Amino acid sequence: MKLKSLEIIGFKSFANKTKINFNNGLTEIVGPNGSGKSNVIEAIRWVLGEQSAKTLRGNKMPDIIFSGSSTHKAVNRAEVKLTLDNTDQYINSPYSEIIIARKLFRSGESQYSINNQECRLKDINNLFMDTGMGLGSFSIISQGNIEKIFNSKPEERRSIIETAAGVFKYKHQKHDANLKLSQTKENLDRVEDIIYELK
Ligand code: ATP
Repeated sequence: MKLKSLEIIGFKSFANKTKINFNNGLTEIVGPNGSGKSNVIEAIRWVLGEQSAKTLRGNKMPDIIFSGSSTHKAVNRAEVKLTLDNTDQYINSPYSEIIIARKLFRSGESQYSINNQECRLKDINNLFMDTGMGLGSFSIISQGNIEKIFNSKPEERRSIIETAAGVFKYKHQKHDANLKLSQTKENLDRVEDIIYELK
């Protein structure tokens, strides 16, 4: 699985449609201070489902929409598309090319899609779970991250190791199963109450 390209429109400093192709080998993004290098990485984070505006250096999510500059008017929509080459079927999907997209409008309306099919954030999370690429994985190491890992509490460090070892997916499934079990138990209790009343 490889990143093929990233398309950004109206996201942070990218007013116009900008496409970055990731060719084989290493891709470096260089530019003067404030030219938008970190914004490119944040666009990848965002399209993978980032929910924290703070992580994206904003106060609220609409702050990521291009807010205007001396040469361009503000826009009302941010959109990021990430294309992945999945010919090796590394991601559990029948498609050899996967396009993840996310849109946000100033009204607050937002939209996710996988291969042009509208989907939920959960579908994107599930797609990347345990691939080492989703949010919470270590495929993106931001400035200050390494120091944060070293200074983290033992429990936090354990969760980092669990994520890297692929245990997280099963913990997540266990949590979902436990929720369903307690819901079913509540339903059974209710049925028992009704049976008792009918006797
Ligand atoms: P450095 O080398 O200093 O780390 P950088 O190249 O990583 O800089 P970024 O931090 O990615 O640059 O980009 C910062 C620029 O993005 C600033 O000029 C800021 O005004 C601009 N910017 C951020 N959010 C928005 C927005 N919503 N609308 C317009 N411009 C924005």
